[in-house]
Amino acid sequence: MSNFIPVNEPLLDGNEKKYLCECIDTGWISSEGPFVQRLEKEFAARVGRRFGIAVANGSVALDAAVAALDLGPGDEVILPTFTIISCAAAIVRAGATPVLVDSESDTWNMDLSQVEQKITSRTRAVMAVHIFGLPVDMDALLAITQPRGIKVIEDAAQMHGQTCRDQPCGSFGDMSTFSFYPNKHITTGEGGIIVTDDEGLAERCRSLRNLCFKPEKRFVHEELGWNFRMSNLQAAVGCAQLERLDTFITRKRQMGCRYDELLVGVPGIQKPLVRTAWAENIYWVYGLVLDDGVPYDAEEAIRRLAAQGIGCRPFFWPMHEQPVFRRMGLFTGESYPVAERLARRGFYLPSGLALTETQIRRVADVTRGVLVS
Ligand SMILES: *Cc1c(COP(=O)(O)O)cnc(C)c1O
Repeated sequence: MSNFIPVNEPLLDGNEKKYLCECIDTGWISSEGPFVQRLEKEFAARVGRRFGIAVANGSVALDAAVAALDLGPGDEVILPTFTIISCAAAIVRAGATPVLVDSESDTWNMDLSQVEQKITSRTRAVMAVHIFGLPVDMDALLAITQPRGIKVIEDAAQMHGQTCRDQPCGSFGDMSTFSFYPNKHITTGEGGIIVTDDEGLAERCRSLRNLCFKPEKRFVHEELGWNFRMSNLQAAVGCAQLERLDTFITRKRQMGCRYDELLVGVPGIQKPLVRTAWAENIYWVYGLVLDDGVPYDAEEAIRRLAAQGIGCRPFFWPMHEQPVFRRMGLFTGESYPVAERLARRGFYLPSGLALTETQIRRVADVTRGVLVS
């Protein structure tokens, strides 16, 4: 279908090609090339952190963060059930215990009142995940964790360029992680970064990323690491993308605003919140949640929209309902009604940066048609 509107298409019309050519012309294509350090420095500065450690993707950024904090057997880590598998996987792979909380039905972010209820003497960390365009209220979270000495990993994979009470997302807690997958606000194709103000944690992440090679005796290892390195080619694209971040955020906000306008009066849907007391939505994706009165679920809505050339995606499926974790004996008998409902009734419309005004209009028209029929 030639006029199919995909759920995401990135914008690569800045200096991406120029910087990539520099890599080819100079022969610097591995992680040793200069764009990697440039991206680390510029990205860390952008989010107000001292150190940046570029890695292969946003999922392994979480693995490295969990490992750097020495989270392991006996340690409990609180996280939202409504998130991507990468978050819980990093905790489970480290041998630590994931402890879940439900979401708020309006922001779709983790419910902080439940965080407080889930704290035990074994709670070592909270993994906060900002969802879809609005951040978790990080000041409120840190007010809970800091007095108790609980660490915070901020998964800001969907939040480049967002702020929380005017402080950049990615600047909160002990370590923050980002993804540069093509549907994120800035992309390197595949890629991610860990940012922190703690020199020790930064060093650990650098070492873990690079197989824990030692500077003194390269092939003698005290610890097991991974190859999570980012290539200079990827970082070159990242540097070019970072130059455009403000433009991209403006575009995303315009996109959200246009969808809001064009979907006015469409019955049966909950739209994203425009703002909270601590942030304005940046619409990483434009999510919709079907009201209970709508006689079909998100899967059916996605099917109907696809039949008319619109590519949509379902919301996350909650961690407590993942077969892989249930088989491990995790989350037995647990229920999180808000996340369960979001998973079944939520989906998002095409939200990529390359989306045109004409496409937005068509998506809105088709959505209106599907929901009114
Ligand atoms: C995309 C994403 C990740 C994973 O990033 P990858 O680069 O795809 O591995 C992790 N957490 C959140 C919240 C994400 O949206």
